[in-house]
Amino acid sequence: MTAALARYDDQVGSHRIAVVGAGTAGAAAAILLARAGHAVALFERVAVPGPVGAGITLQPTGQAVLARLGLLDAIAARATRVDGLVCRRPDGRAVVDLRYADVDPGLFGYGLHRGVLFEALLAAARAEPRIALHCGVAIVSTELEAGARWLVDDGGARRGPFDAVVAADGSVSELHASGGVPVRARPYPWGALWFVAVDRGNTLTADRRVVQVVDGPRRMFGLLPTGRAPRGDDLVVSVFWSIRAVRVAAFRARGLAAWRAEALALDPRTAPILDQITDLAELAFTQYRDVRMPRWHGERIVFIGDAAHATSPQLGQGANLALWDAMCLADAFADRGDVAAALAAYTAARRRHLNYYQLATRALTPLFQGDSRVLGWLRDAIFPASRWLAPVRRRMVRTMAGLDRGIVRRAIGLDELRRLALPPAAAAASG
Ligand SMILES: Cc1cc2nc3c(=O)[nH]c(=O)nc-3n(C[C@H](O)[C@H](O)[C@H](O)COP(=O)(O)OP(=O)(O)OC[C@H]3O[C@@H](n4cnc5c(N)ncnc54)[C@H](O)[C@@H]3O)c2cc1C
Repeated sequence: MTAALARYDDQVGSHRIAVVGAGTAGAAAAILLARAGHAVALFERVAVPGPVGAGITLQPTGQAVLARLGLLDAIAARATRVDGLVCRRPDGRAVVDLRYADVDPGLFGYGLHRGVLFEALLAAARAEPRIALHCGVAIVSTELEAGARWLVDDGGARRGPFDAVVAADGSVSELHASGGVPVRARPYPWGALWFVAVDRGNTLTADRRVVQVVDGPRRMFGLLPTGRAPRGDDLVVSVFWSIRAVRVAAFRARGLAAWRAEALALDPRTAPILDQITDLAELAFTQYRDVRMPRWHGERIVFIGDAAHATSPQLGQGANLALWDAMCLADAFADRGDVAAALAAYTAARRRHLNYYQLATRALTPLFQGDSRVLGWLRDAIFPASRWLAPVRRRMVRTMAGLDRGIVRRAIGLDELRRLALPPAAAAASG
């Protein structure tokens, strides 16, 4: 039997580029590449993609990329501005209290529903004449043939040829196996139970901070003001309950009343939120994954977003790194005509920023999600000193804002963010 074949060589553009996955990284990369004149085929596994998920934090880095895409104002209109993050103990004592304004009064974050970001990006991708969007197509592998990349879908059909493939299919990437790039991907032992609730009385929204209440490293109750849900006008808040994956069944068996009492003891303000949960089945569980690659490109393929560097979301960078990846990839293609040179330039451009965030996340996560009482004690003893050590506190804020690029390298500055937020032509004109 001859395998089915779908050819994409009639698309017009400088390069024919396939993007696999229409999440944050894939949709943003597809739009930027299409606007730069490439012919893009965007493949999404879900047949009718919808606004799934809970809250995410949009850092200044992610905001700059969305501004370049022309989507920031519409997204910000449905988000809640957040001025910082406080991590405190049940008795109210702060472990860390970080405010963006400590670095620059012009910096802040947004708490927003992942679905708002997803829908805005997907609508913009649909509106691009140079993007051919194929929903309901799961790509399971890729092959190199005669100097081009081909994709194979789950029905066995071969799709191509493409000058380059952008693998943006999330942390459980199907393309890891056939991309020819070394990769280490495994589930992280911890994850979170989550729920999106209406913020009755606006208590948490008005606070304008991400709140984490920690009790040792084993218990963390996170509250993220999330703006307005994709459908509806109520202000919502996302509730995260940190938990080791193997303990989820026991957690559910203990029942709602036991958890409610535990959560209320950590933050009594959450009573009106917890009242909206009538069954523990309403709390969805997400297990995190850890993905490491020594470089993010191979022959005519590049990995971006969670497919390239998923970590635990302790530093709240997932969507922001994905958006920054997309921008750097489009810029790498703009600077080099040749695909191999563009992909190598992409890896070089991303190395410091991504290595820093992967390292910082790996170092910090066991202090917030782990079983070592000693690490929890050390965290509570050492971190509060950042209140008096302004350079340390500013470094922590820059890391939270997505701006750090390494231990010694200068962080991304506000001027650079403003310049990057402009479309390439306007940025060139502004010098
Ligand atoms: C359904 C869902 C809900 C999420 N909810 C949250 C949340 O509440 N809070 C949070 O912080 N993060 C959440 N995330 C993760 C967050 O979106 C990412 O960490 C971040 O935005 C980086 O995005 P990404 O594009 O790299 O990956 P993702 O957002 O995971 O996007 C990957 C995309 O690829 C598609 N895909 C996967 N496999 C294939 C395949 N074989 N062929 C074609 N397409 C494929 C997926 O359907 C998805 O649209 C969620 C992710 C998903 C997929």
